[in-house]
Amino acid sequence: MQDNIFLKIIRKEIPADIVYEDAELLAFRDIHPLAPVHILVIPKKPIESITTMEPEDALIVGKMFLVARDIARDLNISEKGYKLLIRVGHDGGQEVPHLHLHLLGGARLTENIHPI
Ligand code: 5GP
Repeated sequence: MQDNIFLKIIRKEIPADIVYEDAELLAFRDIHPLAPVHILVIPKKPIESITTMEPEDALIVGKMFLVARDIARDLNISEKGYKLLIRVGHDGGQEVPHLHLHLLGGARLTENIHPI
């Protein structure tokens, strides 16, 4: 797998506003937030996307959702709700080839999913 911006963030080669870190996962604020709260939860393992994840990655992907839930709780957006989004590949709009879960909230969000 080729190097990318998120691998550089994991290696602390470029800065990020990190809100959670453990041995397997990292979560940091999106540099171009689409909502008052916009956090990306990523595995430290270089998994490119849902398309290429292996069955053995299921636990780590599940843990991404638990961490996103806990961050939402800590940032007090749990009660009002939030969105969790994973883009997959070109048509899904995935820009960075490293699996990431978007946590979006802090305001009521529109549904703007439509073909380009
Ligand atoms: P995608 O479109 O692949 O689902 O989302 C990639 C996300 O990564 C975008 O929301 C974009 O703003 C964010 N992003 C890209 N480069 C950086 C960066 O260097 N730092 C941070 N914090 N976020 C980034």
